[in-house]
Amino acid sequence: MATYKLFLLPGDGIGPEVMAEVVKVAAALGRLGVAHFETEKGLVGGCAYDAHGAAISDADMARASAADAVLLAAVGGPKWADVPYEARPEAGLLRLRKDLALYANLRPAICYPALADASSLKREVVEGLDIMIVRELTGGVYFGEPKQIIDLGNGQKRGVDTQVYDTFEIERIARVAFDLARKRGNKVTSSEKHNVMKSGVLWKEVVTALHKREFPDVTLEHQLADALGMQLVRWPKQFDVIVTDNLFGDMLSDVASMLTGSLGMLPSASLGDLDAKTGKRKALYEPVHGSAPDIAGKGLANPIAMIGSLGMALRYSFGLGDAADRLDAAIAQVLASGLRTADIRSEGGKPVSTSQMGDAIVAALEGAKA
Ligand code: NAD
Repeated sequence: MATYKLFLLPGDGIGPEVMAEVVKVAAALGRLGVAHFETEKGLVGGCAYDAHGAAISDADMARASAADAVLLAAVGGPKWADVPYEARPEAGLLRLRKDLALYANLRPAICYPALADASSLKREVVEGLDIMIVRELTGGVYFGEPKQIIDLGNGQKRGVDTQVYDTFEIERIARVAFDLARKRGNKVTSSEKHNVMKSGVLWKEVVTALHKREFPDVTLEHQLADALGMQLVRWPKQFDVIVTDNLFGDMLSDVASMLTGSLGMLPSASLGDLDAKTGKRKALYEPVHGSAPDIAGKGLANPIAMIGSLGMALRYSFGLGDAADRLDAAIAQVLASGLRTADIRSEGGKPVSTSQMGDAIVAALEGAKA
């Protein structure tokens, strides 16, 4: 049985609560003979700032870099609203993404049949939905320079961010999307705003050229980001893989999250390039949701997004697609049995706690009745 090193970063708020459930699932996978997971824990976000004065320490960065995969729960909260900008909780997340060169953010939006009524959209619009949003994560307007607030000296200030993409950045993220599409519905929708942005003109040009050169068998379509936002809520099942930049991807994937009913359901993966020597990729897996300070410490958090993030690690870091399918089936079985945390509760139903949900998924995984 293979052994993998998982570096766990529970972070703040509900982070430690949902991470505890992943530890249970990893242990169950060991008992089932899928793989042995060695786990080590570190600090990121507000808790790291409290301990070291930085959102992640150099020592924890080194451990993250050495791990086979990093699992992060969530960072942030009102307690750290006034810490210096460079040390704010999100800076830990951004450093992990940047230093590990995790340029591809994969966010699946899957609507489990048992949850179709928890979506704000009609059942027929979302039932059976299975789309993948591939967001560029290390470039674009969140990182482009100059990035500053200039005092104009006349009582006015000017805020500047820079949207910038080079050919290689667009090519490598598009390649991830085309590769994924070949294993799914074989269709990629590329999204930008070439009608008003030069970076969008280049994006479209590069994706089109790569498609022609390397992926002519995959269906490619282009949609402007604003139109795509509209189509996502009108008829999301028209999409298979969506590839877009950092800013549009941030917004569109949050829109997609509501299609599935709750933020508490959505995992994500952030991947870097394959290392030619080791054949491994740097990878960070995390739920899409934040630290949910409003429910932290109350046992109310839904651990499914976090557990699904381990599922994505099985699939994309360890080549254990069968085990990932088994974990997905265990989650679907528990939901079909009617068990719900508060965020996805149906009317009149009694919600279960974070740990009860985790236990039920472990039991389903191990073959017991949920
Ligand atoms: P949030 O995702 O933390 O919460 C939004 C709403 O969804 C809240 O009502 C919350 O209770 C609910 N929710 C979120 N996750 C849930 C879960 N697993 N189970 C049940 N309900 C859940 O977003 P927010 O309130 O905008 O931000 C709170 C803090 O989290 C802020 O400090 C923000 O900066 C931070 N944040 C961190 C990340 C991250 O770590 N990746 C992402 C988003 C926000």
